[in-house]
Amino acid sequence: MTDPRTWIVIGAGPAGLLAACRLADEGHSVTVLEAESELGGRVSKVRVDGIDIDAGAESFATRGGHVEKLIDDIGLTDKLVAPAGGPAWIVGPDRSYPMPAAGWLGIPTKSLSRDVRKALGWSGALRAAVERWMPVEEVAPDDHLGEVARRRLGDIATDRLLAPVVSGIFSRPIDELRIDAAAAGFAAEISELGLTRAAAKRRALAPAGASVMGLEGGMFTLTDVLAERARARGVTIYTDAPVYSLTRSEDSTPGGRPSNDVPGWDMVTESNHWHADEVVMAASRPVAASLVPQLERAPDRQVGLVTLSLDAPELDSHPRGSGVLAVEGVTHAKALTHASAKWNWVAQAAPSRHIIRLSYNVESAQDLSDYALADASRLLGVPLKDQQVRDLVQVTWHDAAPTRAGDREPAPGLHLVGSAAGFSGLAAIADDDARSTLGART
Ligand SMILES: Cc1cc2nc3c(=O)[nH]c(=O)nc-3n(C[C@H](O)[C@H](O)[C@H](O)COP(=O)(O)OP(=O)(O)OC[C@H]3O[C@@H](n4cnc5c(N)ncnc54)[C@H](O)[C@@H]3O)c2cc1C
Repeated sequence: MTDPRTWIVIGAGPAGLLAACRLADEGHSVTVLEAESELGGRVSKVRVDGIDIDAGAESFATRGGHVEKLIDDIGLTDKLVAPAGGPAWIVGPDRSYPMPAAGWLGIPTKSLSRDVRKALGWSGALRAAVERWMPVEEVAPDDHLGEVARRRLGDIATDRLLAPVVSGIFSRPIDELRIDAAAAGFAAEISELGLTRAAAKRRALAPAGASVMGLEGGMFTLTDVLAERARARGVTIYTDAPVYSLTRSEDSTPGGRPSNDVPGWDMVTESNHWHADEVVMAASRPVAASLVPQLERAPDRQVGLVTLSLDAPELDSHPRGSGVLAVEGVTHAKALTHASAKWNWVAQAAPSRHIIRLSYNVESAQDLSDYALADASRLLGVPLKDQQVRDLVQVTWHDAAPTRAGDREPAPGLHLVGSAAGFSGLAAIADDDARSTLGART
C-alpha cells in the first residue's frame, strides 16, 4: 500500500465491517456510517422473553470453510456449535414427512427410496425416478428452476420437495427462481448430466459433517467482535447516520470541477456532509440501488420473522426435530425453526420454555402476530393456546432474496460489497472478503 486514502463505508452489516477492517489494515483512514442505532444489519440480535437471540442470520454455511476461517482469525473458534442433527420436516396439505436423506436443494437423488416414497407416494416417486432416463436437454442459466423441475421430475416432487426448500432458502417461489441464482453453474451441469445426476454431483461435493454451524450465544456475537476489531484499528463508526445521497464530487460543483481539489464522493446524512476519496457501498441492495443510479433495481422481497416463547411441555419431545418447511398454502408461514431444539445454547438460556421462530414471505410491512400461533400448531402438529405464549416478537427484513451480481465498481472509487454486490449469506460474504483487493491498489 503506497497511498493512504480516506474511505467511507456505508452500512455496518457483516460486509461493511469486514471491509472496514480490511481497509484499516491497509493503512487507510476509514469511517463507517450506519443507518440504525445498532450495528450488524441482518446479523444482529432481538430480545425475546428476556433472552438475546439472532434477529436474522442464525447460522452459516460451512461450504468452502470461509466463515470458519474468519471465526478462527477473530478468536471465536471455541464458540462454534453444530445444530441438533436430524432432517428438517416438510408439512404438506395431507401429510408430514422428514426431508429425504439423499438429495440436494430438495431434488431427490434416490427417488425410489423409502423416505421419498413416504413424501411423494409411489406415483410421484416413480415419476421423479424416470428423470434419470430422460434425454438431457440444454438448460439456460436464466431458465426458472420450477419450469425445468416440473418438466423433468414432475409436479408432485416439485411441489412437495423442491418448492418448500427453495422458498425456505431463497424467499421466492420456485417458478420465479433462475437456476443460476440458486447455484452458480448449475444450469450447465443440468445440461450435461440431467437434473438428478447434477444434484447428486453437488451433494457428493458437499463437505462431510454439518452443512451449517452457529456460534454459542448467537451469530450476532460476530458483529460485536468485528466492530471491536474495526475500532481497535482506528475505524470510526457512526450509528443513526443513514446516508441520504451519494454523488461524485466532480459533479457537485458547476463546471464539473472537484469540490475540493480531490476527486471523490460526497455524502449527506441528517446532520452532516461527508467527503471521502473512495466509498464502499455495504447497505442492502435496494438501498444501494436507490443511492446509485447505475445499479439494476430488483424487487424488494421482504421476510417477516416471528419469534415465540412458549410454555409448552408438549413440545419437549421435539415433534418435528429442529425445523419444518411448509408446502405452499398449508400455513401463512413458509418455515418454522424450533430454536430451542436446534441450538443447545438457546435451550439453556430458556429453561422449561420453547423458542419457536416462524418465517413469512411478505409484500409489505404486515403484522403477523395473528397467524403465528395457529401456524406453529399446524407445523408442529401440536395444538397450542394463547395462554401458552410468554412473548411474541416480530422483525421484518428487506432484501431477503439474492439479486443478480453486477459490476463491483459501477463508478470510479465506488465499491460494492455484500448484499449490495449481489452476495447472499455469510459464506459468500466471507469468501468475497478473503479474496478482496479493496484499497490495495491505491
Ligand atoms: C431472515 C434472514 C435470515 C438469514 N439467515 C441467514 C443465515 O442463517 N445464514 C447466512 O449465512 N445468511 C443468512 N441471511 C443472509 C445474511 O444475513 C445476509 O447475506 C448478510 O447479512 C448481508 O450482509 P450485508 O452486510 O451485505 O448487509 P446487511 O446485513 O443487510 O447490512 C447492511 C447494513 O446497512 C445499513 N444501511 C442500510 N441503509 C443505509 C443507509 N442509507 N446508510 C447507512 N447504512 C445503511 C443497514 O442498517 C445494515 O446495518 C439471512 C437473511 C435474512 C433476511
